[in-house]
Amino acid sequence: MVKIAERVKHVTPSLTLSISAKAKRMKAEGIDVCSFSAGEPDFDTPPHIKMAAKKALDEGKTKYGPVAGEMPLREAIAAKLRQENNLNYEAENIIVTNGGKQSLFNLMLALIEPGDEVIIPSPYWLSYPEMVTLAGGKSVFVPTSAENGYKITPEQLEAAITPKTRLFVLNSPSNPTGAVYTPEELKALADVIVKHDILVVSDEIYEKIVYDGVTHVSIGAINDQIFARTIVSNGFAKAYAMTGWRVGYIAADASIIQAMTKIQSHSTSNVCTFAQYGALAALQSSQDCVKEMLSAFAERRKFIYNAISAIAGISAPLPYGAFYVFVDISSTGLKSLEFCERLLEEEKVAAIPGIVFGDDNCIRLSYATDMNSIEKGMNRLANFIRAL
Ligand code: GLU
Repeated sequence: MVKIAERVKHVTPSLTLSISAKAKRMKAEGIDVCSFSAGEPDFDTPPHIKMAAKKALDEGKTKYGPVAGEMPLREAIAAKLRQENNLNYEAENIIVTNGGKQSLFNLMLALIEPGDEVIIPSPYWLSYPEMVTLAGGKSVFVPTSAENGYKITPEQLEAAITPKTRLFVLNSPSNPTGAVYTPEELKALADVIVKHDILVVSDEIYEKIVYDGVTHVSIGAINDQIFARTIVSNGFAKAYAMTGWRVGYIAADASIIQAMTKIQSHSTSNVCTFAQYGALAALQSSQDCVKEMLSAFAERRKFIYNAISAIAGISAPLPYGAFYVFVDISSTGLKSLEFCERLLEEEKVAAIPGIVFGDDNCIRLSYATDMNSIEKGMNRLANFIRAL
């Protein structure tokens, strides 16, 4: 038996990826699966983005590039953050990474020392704590619930801070709950962060996917004190249907970017050169494609929320952002893993058990899938619950 390093033993593989892969495999075998598993837009990448990448390929943008990213892209990202998010960044504050996931992974490696504590509101995106573990840190979970809209309060944040606290992970709009913090709520959290002089990483990957007139505000834009303590993580996967391209970025103080660049220079080097030109086109072209996808998500959100509300025995708060509904299944008496296994087995509906997000009473349904599958899947879910 090969001896595997201790650090890996404490890490669980990504279940969002493995359940999504299983649903895809079943579909390929001809099984009629309705998949609500992956947080992956079902849309194809818009044609003008593909064209820009093809052009870059034809122009020979096929060589190694700067580790922190192609300069035009870093400049365009900084300009986007200044204009859209009111965050005063320049190109030197940006590193382009292999997706939002590598952004956060490298950030943890750059910031966290063994024993450092990272505060993570629960439910959380499943990869945050694993990244903290791999960096030798300790995750400190702060529970939130449907009653408070799955949002952490400033009192809860303050109570969780110790002398070992280094970082607070904020994800608004949230995966898996769809919660979106208001500017007032962000201000109150920012006050606590500044008071205790810790850092916050603001994962804004779902910033473009918000509903009912809700606007996304970056916590870093609240004032200069919080800006100095904020690290923004974002990417192109969700807003532009570019999940497979693997282009994400971090915006932060230049010292953090330099540290992350050092790490990246010895791991992946630059992000695929021509993919970066696709991302550049995404930023610099019309944003109509984002609006079109958003309006499709909005229609599905309404439908799925109404369908869930009509099923006796389960419930979910209305999500204001992202493309997930976090459904409370506790009254069925089943734990989330068994619920999802049986749902897939008996009704061919794939969902993600809440336990992987830190909440065993819930399941996550992604509605980044076509309406037809949503309608069919909701009927099957209703049948499943009735039959329990
Ligand atoms: N972030 C997406 C999700 O939560 C993609 C899968 C993953 O990377 O975890 O489903």
